[in-house]
Amino acid sequence: MAKYSIDLQVGKVKESEASSTIGETIVGIDLGTTNSLVAIVKDGIAQAVAGPDNKNVLVPSLIHFAEDGSVLVGDEARPFLTTHPERTIYSVKRLLGKSYGDLSTFEDRFGYRIIDENEDRLVKIAVPTADGKDDRYYSPVELSAQILKTLKARIEQELGTPVSRAVITVPAYFNDSQRQATRDAGKLAGLDVLRIVNEPTASSLAYGIGLKDEDEGQTIAVYDLGGGTFDVSILRIEQGIFEVMATNGDTFLGGDDFDQAIVDYLTETYSLNLASPGLRGSIRLLAERAKKALSTQNSYSEDFHGTSLTIDRITVDSLFEPLIARTLASCGSALKDAELEKADIDHVIMVGGSTRVPAVQRAVTEFFGKAVNNTLDPDQVVALGAAIQADVLAGNQKDVLLLDITPLSLGIETVGGLMDPIIARNSKVPTRVGRKYTTSVDGQKNLKVAVYQGERDLVADNRKLGEFVLSDIPPMAAGIPQIEIQFYLDADGILRVKAMEHRSGQSQTVTIKSQYGITEEEMAEMLIDSITNAETDVAQRALVEARNEATNVLLSARKFLKQNESWLTEEQVAAITGYNDRLEAAVKGDDKDAINGRLQELNDYTTPLAHEALDRNVAAAIRDEQV
Ligand code: AMP
Repeated sequence: MAKYSIDLQVGKVKESEASSTIGETIVGIDLGTTNSLVAIVKDGIAQAVAGPDNKNVLVPSLIHFAEDGSVLVGDEARPFLTTHPERTIYSVKRLLGKSYGDLSTFEDRFGYRIIDENEDRLVKIAVPTADGKDDRYYSPVELSAQILKTLKARIEQELGTPVSRAVITVPAYFNDSQRQATRDAGKLAGLDVLRIVNEPTASSLAYGIGLKDEDEGQTIAVYDLGGGTFDVSILRIEQGIFEVMATNGDTFLGGDDFDQAIVDYLTETYSLNLASPGLRGSIRLLAERAKKALSTQNSYSEDFHGTSLTIDRITVDSLFEPLIARTLASCGSALKDAELEKADIDHVIMVGGSTRVPAVQRAVTEFFGKAVNNTLDPDQVVALGAAIQADVLAGNQKDVLLLDITPLSLGIETVGGLMDPIIARNSKVPTRVGRKYTTSVDGQKNLKVAVYQGERDLVADNRKLGEFVLSDIPPMAAGIPQIEIQFYLDADGILRVKAMEHRSGQSQTVTIKSQYGITEEEMAEMLIDSITNAETDVAQRALVEARNEATNVLLSARKFLKQNESWLTEEQVAAITGYNDRLEAAVKGDDKDAINGRLQELNDYTTPLAHEALDRNVAAAIRDEQV
């Protein structure tokens, strides 16, 4: 059975964590592709929070970098989407934790410029500087942090007190790097992210599903149809633990496609001439108004430049039918992946603005053969669930099952002194997590496994719990050995770490007392440090990652020189050596951009040569065959 990720849902923050911020509200945040919102539990009821000057709880996930250097977020940024698309960023969630290579096929879907520094590295967004002569680069983490800062300010204004702790939701299919990017964004915004929660898990919590310790487990389908994306997730909840059994969906299917179907219909029926972008924009807005109106009424008419356009419910139902059918096909695939039948689903939950469309509700009800949960505002469900999770962590939901959790992350040191958390803080114990690693040097025989506890990005700033060496790894080229590190943390906080090389079967285990000798004050201090140092930590990590990559590329470049010396010209060898030397010098410095720049130069120069080498190898292989 395919297993994706687990939300260790129910649990309280240990007293020690709460001590520095007694009574402070923990907020729930839905950081969405199109809209974001913040919610809290107040007087026992989860509620989304509106801005002081408008009644809207939704903050459009838009960021505008004005020419005067100011940054506008949300509704204020909207007008600039059409006037200054190159400095108005939308859908940043689609970029989080992604490399340019992941995104290049979608490049034309962005009105702003994403840059291709190197296929493997995380993508950046280039925004022209005020004089238009240069660009400033922003990472998706920095951009998401802007949205989070706006939400933080909004809730602080509402409560009249500072807020520093949050639960943030992510799609169930987000991988480690996307989750880490979300955490980093929280840190940069000055938020201690107590948990990253899967959106379908939050949606279940919003409907009260999984809050109580039911005797029998429950299986839930969460159908999430937004403006631009569709997701379906199948969850299994057992004793407070939410397991994502399958996810499916379409990253480019949503309400926007409903609008387009209406535009196409009206254009054809009324022979509309939509020559200008302005007309095309206004007919789209009209189509969306019609769609929304037809969710509650049977017919809709509006004048469009002298032509009275009418469309009715029956027509849109048939227009939407093929789009809805695609979502149902995804539901079918998700069930299949989870090895379940429709009848196994106990609850169906509707999320996302487009689930207001009656034809969608009907089709989903029919498909699963049971009434759907749709009483909450579908735009708010995720944030409300996040707020409930936050409230549970704050210890306010007394009748909720209390599970033991680990208060600090446990992880190991990876290349360059980076902390790689294996068991995230606030994970329920006992727990077992495994992760695969490999070697970074050819013929490496020993691997040092150093175990740390803490939330900082560099191990030097965390607490070392112990180390051991996995020895006698058979000599192999760097990157070939498959080393699995397993962490097993028992209910008493005893950590057992096992390292095993899969090809040779070599293994080594040590036992460590994870929280040994740490006082509650020290623990609180470590957490506060991780927030106050967020900006330098994130920058430090970026620098180390750039150095690591540069070191790898340097190794490959040297290998390449050796393997191809027979045909490379003297000039080519000299050029590569020169680029290598410059990159090596940059690696010794502290300037990440310089390292990336030198790396780019080396790559630009060697890529065509690498292609040539490949062609020569292929030609040689064919010659051999013919011989
Ligand atoms: P979300 O991304 O979840 O905020 O969903 C936004 C999408 O929901 C947009 O495509 C909206 O047009 C659509 N939407 C919002 N309200 C309605 C409604 N009453 N009927 C149909 N679609 C709606």
